[in-house]
Amino acid sequence: MKPGYGGRILRIDLSEGKITKEPTPDALIKDYLGARGFIVRTLHDELSPGTDPLSPEALFITATGPLTGLFVPSSGKIQSGGKSPITGGYGEANSGGHFPAELKLAGYDMIVLTGARDKPCYIVVDDDDVRIEDAGELWGKGSITAEEMLKKNLGEDFQIATIGPAGENLVKIACITHDFGRQAGRTGLGAILGSKKVKAICVRGTRTIPVHDIDGLIEVGRRMYQQCFTNPAFELWQTYGTSAVVNWANRIGAFPTRNFQGGYFEQFTNISGPRMRKDIVLINKACFSCAMCCGKYSRTTTDDYDVHVEGPEYETTAMIGGDCALGSIKDIAYANYLCDEYGIDTISGGSIIAFAIECFEKGIIDEKDTGGIKLKFGDAKGVFEMVKKIALRQDIGDLLAEGATKASRTLGKGSERFAMQMKGLEQSGYESRRAPAMLLSYMTSDIGAHHRPSWAVTHDLATGRDSVEGKAEKVIELQHTRPLFDTLGVCRLPWIEMQVPVSDYAEAYRKATGIDYSEEELLGISEKIWNLTRMFWVREIPGFGRAYDFPPARIYEEKLKGGTTDGGILERDKVEALLDDYYKLRGWNQNGIPTPEKLKSLGLDWVIKDLK
Ligand code: SF4
Repeated sequence: MKPGYGGRILRIDLSEGKITKEPTPDALIKDYLGARGFIVRTLHDELSPGTDPLSPEALFITATGPLTGLFVPSSGKIQSGGKSPITGGYGEANSGGHFPAELKLAGYDMIVLTGARDKPCYIVVDDDDVRIEDAGELWGKGSITAEEMLKKNLGEDFQIATIGPAGENLVKIACITHDFGRQAGRTGLGAILGSKKVKAICVRGTRTIPVHDIDGLIEVGRRMYQQCFTNPAFELWQTYGTSAVVNWANRIGAFPTRNFQGGYFEQFTNISGPRMRKDIVLINKACFSCAMCCGKYSRTTTDDYDVHVEGPEYETTAMIGGDCALGSIKDIAYANYLCDEYGIDTISGGSIIAFAIECFEKGIIDEKDTGGIKLKFGDAKGVFEMVKKIALRQDIGDLLAEGATKASRTLGKGSERFAMQMKGLEQSGYESRRAPAMLLSYMTSDIGAHHRPSWAVTHDLATGRDSVEGKAEKVIELQHTRPLFDTLGVCRLPWIEMQVPVSDYAEAYRKATGIDYSEEELLGISEKIWNLTRMFWVREIPGFGRAYDFPPARIYEEKLKGGTTDGGILERDKVEALLDDYYKLRGWNQNGIPTPEKLKSLGLDWVIKDLK
């Protein structure tokens, strides 16, 4: 078994009830490192082109990385992936908690699910003992409730990932929840589990993870933790987590407001990190091996509700707070709880509800569509009801459950211009008309408009908010560096916020695995993986190209309203220039397709056939 790895791949054919375990191939480790790399290579190899993502033939994959579960800061991360039900392209979501390390300690690098059950089930992975159990009364229950029930049944030492009613109902923004509030949120992967009738995956691992040089790993791990503990931002991070960003994002006019009509929410102090800490936070909460504890466990209570919830974190506050104009942190936290329990991604959920509110206010939909709800920006009750309607596919919720792209195409009447998505995935929480590098990050993200692979707002502030020169180079650098953390199975936040250097992660990788990759070589593999995710889109979507990277017309035709960016806009020719530069630097053609030469240079000759 290779040091640093769980050593095995677990395959479950749900139709046949067949469970197999096989050694993780050395070549896969050498060429793709782990997690995200394993997922994209497996999709290319094992998913037939054109497969319906919600058919039994589709794959659901979840994979740890070589540093998952080891002695480095924040090593509790896992990637899940498949063909995205919402975009039809490459789908991937990152999550933390304690499930990832548990899976590795059970001796698995990856789980690959194929087929589908006739009846709802849940999967138990108890070290070597793997079984498929009848889900019985779990089906129909909320994600959090189901996790509680399974913990009671199996034991507290099991780590459990569940879907909610949204996943069961094949809602295309359905997420997977673990640890009472940690989500694999994006790209609708919860619906893939729902289509396979898998309510939950429950894991207990009691093995050890072999390490090449344990003393060396402890030495570098200590240094990395020390860097976190002594960083001046450590206390701020522990106190507010990602919500620390709310005030700043408003000050610079990058906080999505009223379906991205503006970048400044006038009630932002009511939903800021300090306000959240004061009004609702009970305690800090962290993923496995994390010192930073960005998670906040909260209780939100009014005359109408009284619930516990993890969060809200920045993205939820941006998309349900600013974008739907809710000015109460308690209401945002309650909407967060509903999304978690019903199993909806808060980013796509907030964005789609904001889209629906704007459609209502513009007369494109009315009370007949909404089941009697008068949608209005700022009305919390309407937001709560819409979360449920989307998850249960009731009234207009049935159409919204298909995502903003399909909803806008069906509703028409100009609504496409304010369905805030790229490649079919709703944009996450930064308004980017005055942040071109951030806009390019969204446009070229390999899952659709998401910030995880590249976050470049501070680069825009430093280099000019209206200029597009040099932005593509920075975005590409980030798109190789940030996803490397997802490939290694660790959280990127100690690198971003505590300045733990990438070189330390490279050293930890060498000590853990004995594989002598330099930092540059690891980043080279990250570039290869990036090109392979692009080729998955090329393979799966006929006519895929530049148009899929383009933002909705709101971005280049409508000026921002309110705050410091009032009147801001990025003209269409600048948007085109961003893409021109980006494609050129990537070695892709001007339609955004990797050239055969580029693929060859990355050792991806085998995928050139898909260019046809
Ligand atoms: Fe988890 Fe936050 Fe720590 Fe990252 S910083 S590992 S997301 S608790």
